[in-house]
Amino acid sequence: MKVVLQNLTKVFPGRGKGTKDHVIAVNDCSFEIPDGELVGLLGPSGCGKSTTLNLICGLQKPTSGKILFGDDDVTDLPPENRGVGLVFQNYALYPHLTVLQNIIFPLQNLRGKEKLSRAQMLEKANRIAALVQIDGLMDRKPSELSGGQQQRVAIARALVKMPRVLLMDEPLSNLDARLRLQTREEIRRIQRETGITTVFVTHDQDEAMSISDRIVVMKDGVIQQIGRPQEVYNEPCNLFVAKFLGTPPINVFRASVKDGTLWIGDEAVLSVGGVADGNVTVGIRPEGFCVDENGPLTCTLRAIEVMGRDVTVVSANPAMEGTEIRSIISSDQDIHENKETVRFSLKAGKVFLFDWESGERIAFTETL
Ligand code: ATP
Repeated sequence: MKVVLQNLTKVFPGRGKGTKDHVIAVNDCSFEIPDGELVGLLGPSGCGKSTTLNLICGLQKPTSGKILFGDDDVTDLPPENRGVGLVFQNYALYPHLTVLQNIIFPLQNLRGKEKLSRAQMLEKANRIAALVQIDGLMDRKPSELSGGQQQRVAIARALVKMPRVLLMDEPLSNLDARLRLQTREEIRRIQRETGITTVFVTHDQDEAMSISDRIVVMKDGVIQQIGRPQEVYNEPCNLFVAKFLGTPPINVFRASVKDGTLWIGDEAVLSVGGVADGNVTVGIRPEGFCVDENGPLTCTLRAIEVMGRDVTVVSANPAMEGTEIRSIISSDQDIHENKETVRFSLKAGKVFLFDWESGERIAFTETL
């Protein structure tokens, strides 16, 4: 089922008189989720992710704009008539019911043509339980399950009616790190097997990058960028997106351009064609540095962290933003820990220029 958001806006009125303290939680958002895709809504706390999800499922009404499921305009439909499955961070299972009873619960409310016999309900519940791999736990109560197992029950309950759209709001936040990783892979597998169009809300960029066909990055209710995870990582449209994606994060410097050359401090570090002279902000991905004793960028060496295949060089430069520069180099590059400085050459494809004031990306051409 294709899902389309058209100029969706949600304003929460303030408590006082007038519009002074109103909040524009979602601001003129438009995007399309192709049938069968998993879209990750990503952004910092308060950027409007959950509100967007609540608008799609119908728990909240938009101030303006439209929501379409396929060709159906569902903007004014109540949630129960939209055919959505919901999974939240707190699994919201009924504690007094068994796993089987929890999964069957949504089927018991079906009426008229949709009404199912007990045998049909059991058949559906068992099939979905096998899909999420909790079929051995059907007689347990939620309190007798681990967090990961409870979340699988919640997913099974959301899927049992075969919703048109599956909506998940931070479904992994209550799980420990290892279980998060395992459960997110499971969610991906289940989503692929069922082919249900899914919206997955998270503030965790690793999670969004690994699970999504496409990510939507939001800030202050406004969509910043939409694209395949690797595209957005490789081609961030602004400094916010560049900083939000990537671990370790992108390294940011105050810099300037003069006559087609990028300067960090008094070092000419890269040729950048087609850029007007003036101050710029530079972002360099950790993998954009090569240790090079004749390299143009000089930094103070602070530490070398060896992590198996890769080595992280921790260094500093007077023009950097933040507290340190983290660059990842391969372990076969030579670097001596007892040196006080380290010099780098830069990989142009991993260097981004941004407008000093607006943070918008500035394109440049590589010149030699
Ligand atoms: P988080 O990751 O912390 O859950 P979020 O990105 O999901 O954040 P939302 O919950 O959508 O953000 O909130 C967006 C903005 O709307 C926030 O500023 C929030 O305070 C505000 N907001 C959300 N719900 C309401 C409400 N019912 N009344 C007033 N303001 C609200």
